[in-house]
Amino acid sequence: MASPVLAPLQGMTDLAAPEVFLWQRIEDAFREVLARYGFTEIRTPVLERIEVFARAIGAETDVVQKEMYAFEDRGGRRVALRPEGTAGAIRYAAGAGATEARIFYLGPMFRAERPQAGRRRQFHQLGIEALGPPSPAADAECVALQAHLLDAIGLDGFTLRVNTRGAAGDAEAVAAGLRAALAPLADGLCADCARRRDRNVLRVLDCKQPGCRTLVQSLPPVTRFMAEPSRAYLAEVQRLLRRLEIYAVEDPLLVRGLDYYRHTIWEIAHPALGAQDALSGGGRYAIDLAGRTVEGVGFAMGLERLVMALQARGVEPADPAADRRIWIVSAGDAVREDNLVLAQALRRRGIPCSLDLAGRSLKAQMRAAGRAAVRRVVLRGEQEQARGVYRLKDMRDGSERELDLPALIEALTG
Ligand code: AMP
Repeated sequence: MASPVLAPLQGMTDLAAPEVFLWQRIEDAFREVLARYGFTEIRTPVLERIEVFARAIGAETDVVQKEMYAFEDRGGRRVALRPEGTAGAIRYAAGAGATEARIFYLGPMFRAERPQAGRRRQFHQLGIEALGPPSPAADAECVALQAHLLDAIGLDGFTLRVNTRGAAGDAEAVAAGLRAALAPLADGLCADCARRRDRNVLRVLDCKQPGCRTLVQSLPPVTRFMAEPSRAYLAEVQRLLRRLEIYAVEDPLLVRGLDYYRHTIWEIAHPALGAQDALSGGGRYAIDLAGRTVEGVGFAMGLERLVMALQARGVEPADPAADRRIWIVSAGDAVREDNLVLAQALRRRGIPCSLDLAGRSLKAQMRAAGRAAVRRVVLRGEQEQARGVYRLKDMRDGSERELDLPALIEALTG
């Protein structure tokens, strides 16, 4: 058995070709769409002071309590690998005093969870943050952007659920209303939910235990306990979404785990994903960090799960340069150096090309070209070199043409 040192840590993976081609295609499509909406990229450090996450995400959340890779750095500061991207983006915005901004991030996140299909310890998220005061139009646009991104990578068949957390002023009434509604049902709750009923009653609504799931179906929707403007806010988001031709199912049991959400929250799931079917989640928030409040709306989408959903739909990773790539085969040692110069000249003209640099035999070079499944090979030996010509071989039908350099470039770029 190979040494464990040669493998990544549990729950973490190497990402290489051909898989990486699919990732790059997704990322390129995302960047293109995000630019159309006026979002610019932000790259925050992967390592932050622990307070950034504790304060932005909430010190009591599972992510902060149980899942962070946290340690002391050499200066004795408590730091953690980012478990999500919003906290760092908000730290940046709060530090810059920005209250309106459109930013996105794309990169690795770390959570010390039990690895399983669709649940990794290092995973990747694309997230956006549209900073600004509460606005149903901004929320609807954010949901629409998310649907557009999925569309751009060719993923259909997802489901979109929305709900509201109400305004900050609704939180107490919602908690009190739910507690009262749960009181006569308390015997049926699991042990965790019996505790949650006092401390964090909203989480009872998304408990995964079958007993609790049945029981919460009979509860009044959280909107019942909210003030009218909060209900009107959600109705307005829904109206705008319909105008944008996006159909969201209103799910009164949707809560999202974090404390900072206000008003609109949503989740997108895909049936191809199995048990971990959440593709992404988002919502409007107000986050307090070191005396500054940052308001906005955003979402984070898991790239591993997107790739899984696409693959489940039969999408295969493909080298985008495969069709255009050529292989330069040297017949004899005397031409190798010249062929290296030729390769460089072709690459500079935008033609992806490969050649053997290890002095392999003609046969081995042809085999390598075959393995790379290139459509065309340029064959060049001393004879061709002396005559200033290049043999262009079509690997599909075996036909060959002799061309001079301008004609070769024309044939390869045309
Ligand atoms: P969250 O920040 O927990 O709302 O997660 C947002 C999205 O990130 C989820 O919908 C998943 O697609 C993805 N995600 C979260 N945790 C993991 C994980 N451990 N492994 C893979 N993807 C994850």
